[in-house]
Amino acid sequence: MLTVDGVTAGYHSVPVLRDVSLRAETGQVVAVLGANGAGKTSLLRVISGLLPLQAGTISLDGEPIHQMPAHRIARRGLVQVVEARGVLPGLTVEENILLGLLGRGRLRPAVRQEAIARATTYFPWIGERLRAYGAELSGGQQQMVALSRALALDPPTLLLDEPSLGIAPALVDEIYERIALAANDARTVIIVEQHVHKVLAVADRAYVLRRGAVVLHGDVAELRKGNRLEEAYLS
Ligand code: ATP
Repeated sequence: MLTVDGVTAGYHSVPVLRDVSLRAETGQVVAVLGANGAGKTSLLRVISGLLPLQAGTISLDGEPIHQMPAHRIARRGLVQVVEARGVLPGLTVEENILLGLLGRGRLRPAVRQEAIARATTYFPWIGERLRAYGAELSGGQQQMVALSRALALDPPTLLLDEPSLGIAPALVDEIYERIALAANDARTVIIVEQHVHKVLAVADRAYVLRRGAVVLHGDVAELRKGNRLEEAYLS
């Protein structure tokens, strides 16, 4: 479980997150919504240790992580997927997926096999395209490879920044189905997304940010009643 409590953070002492609190439990998909510049990406960066916080606390399964460097937070199983652009065009699909494991020492064959097996469980087409180069893939396929790279680490906590960005609508649905599966496999998934309807179809809880502050949050089923989400998001 991930708990963000009263977090204020910013760039060059200009706060872009103000007193933000968020809770995400194991097995849940949590959506972070808001207009451009609302602070969504900054919230993910502060959770993964890339942006220092000025006030507040962040804990993972009850243990404070907000003073840890990003690599130690990652070692605790919190992995952030930063858009699909991290797929290297000159490496094969297999190499791209295994890239995330390299930081964990020598790649034993069993670890390698397990990572690829996990990727193909989520995205069966990947098994047929392991030797294809990153450059040959569509934007949607690259996003799936980026997700597979993260899932290869078997992370208990997964942060996703705009998984639908620049992707054909049919593939967006597939990506979201797999993200929901990933959460079912006892993971906590936090998604920043502009495609509100896509993410709400799989999210359990949602937080709406406006100018760095949470203006609405709760269970998606509750929030859907009476258009509260639409009002908060559009006003
Ligand atoms: P988007 O959907 O456009 O990415 P967002 O909700 O993710 O928006 P952030 O990217 O977190 O918002 O940006 C929040 C605010 O912080 C914006 O005003 C932005 O200009 C500012 N900001 C973001 N990154 C930096 C940076 N590296 N240095 C200074 N200011 C930044």
